[in-house]
Amino acid sequence: MKTPAYAAPAAKAPLAPFTVERREPGAHEVLIDIKYCGVCHSDIHQARDEWGGSIFPMVPGHEIVGVVAKVGNAVSRWNAGDVVGVGCFVDSCRHCEACRAGEEQFCSEGMSVTYNGYERSGGKLDRSRPTYGGYSTRITVDENYVLRIPAGIPLDRAAPLLCAGITTYSPLRHFGVEAGDKIAVVGLGGLGHMAVKIAKAMGAHVTVLSHSESKRDDARRLGADDFLVTKDETVFTQHAGRFDFILDTISAQHDYNAYLGLLRRDGTMVLVGVPDPTPVHAFSLIGGRKRLAGSLIGGIRETQEMLDFCAAHGVASDIELIPIQQINQAYERMIKGDVRYRFVIDIASLGKAA
Ligand code: NAP
Ligand code: ZN
Repeated sequence: MKTPAYAAPAAKAPLAPFTVERREPGAHEVLIDIKYCGVCHSDIHQARDEWGGSIFPMVPGHEIVGVVAKVGNAVSRWNAGDVVGVGCFVDSCRHCEACRAGEEQFCSEGMSVTYNGYERSGGKLDRSRPTYGGYSTRITVDENYVLRIPAGIPLDRAAPLLCAGITTYSPLRHFGVEAGDKIAVVGLGGLGHMAVKIAKAMGAHVTVLSHSESKRDDARRLGADDFLVTKDETVFTQHAGRFDFILDTISAQHDYNAYLGLLRRDGTMVLVGVPDPTPVHAFSLIGGRKRLAGSLIGGIRETQEMLDFCAAHGVASDIELIPIQQINQAYERMIKGDVRYRFVIDIASLGKAA
């Protein structure tokens, strides 16, 4: 099925209209009409080949929500008309230890990422079949890699939960953040603003560390208890040893050592942002027996848990809805940190572009 899309034709080239082929759903697959797709900073990193190894042409987009249009004849979990989501991966090996544990994002054979990766044939990654993401009007996905969007979350504001939501929910849960913990969210963008909302819903005391003074009022409105501007370097001495847990969402290079100084003894800092590398000094860790960790999205089971948690706590993303024709300007604004707080593409606009 010829499907209108937007693609980056090559590294650093602007995105432009493109057509992808989508398959009729196989026995265990569903065909989804995409309604909205969030714009993640990872879309920019990969479309600009900042991590290396990008596959072009690339149709980005891994914060997909839509409506089931058609199901394969062996599908029992989904029906036409169901409101569903697709996140950062569309398949995995299903038998390694990680997949069996429901942590498909750590599949030892490599997950099939939603774009800039490969579909599987006979369970194995098939390098002749690139994946294409959500900047398109429909997608065909295995039924086990589809999420249910709970009633009550507006669809456009639900899309960013599929990446920004789970990427922040998962480390907060995994590292045991509890009510009353003093946590810091570093960087108030797509991930950062979801971290604030989710951590507040978990009962934590949340401080935002931002390099944008202009986000102070928004941070409060989003629920943060405190806001510190990191351009003022005295922040790092005045607040040394203050936090139990720090979630670092910054997309651009910065000095981790400075932030580690803000942890209390035995505190943990988790990196989710993926900027260019920066050295970490052993002294930043050994003094207070501190931990520096990382976290990657979340598995299917935990993503569903996060969606249900957000519905129960009235949490959704703050978005700026854009037509796909504005995607290149949106990328430029995100690079400047000018995002409030997630761009979401209205996929209805693609019909007009094709
Ligand atoms: P985003 O919406 O663009 O937000 C990034 C924020 O980082 C900005 O809003 C800004 O916040 C801060 N920032 C940007 N440039 C900065 C600079 N030069 N110095 C200091 N701070 C700066 O990006 P996002 O979509 O949230 O993604 C954030 C990062 O997480 C990206 O690297 C992305 O690839 C990565 N990511 C990782 C995972 C995972 O599974 N680990 C999943 C999704 C995304 P302030 O204005 O408040 O400072
Ligand atoms: Zn993402």
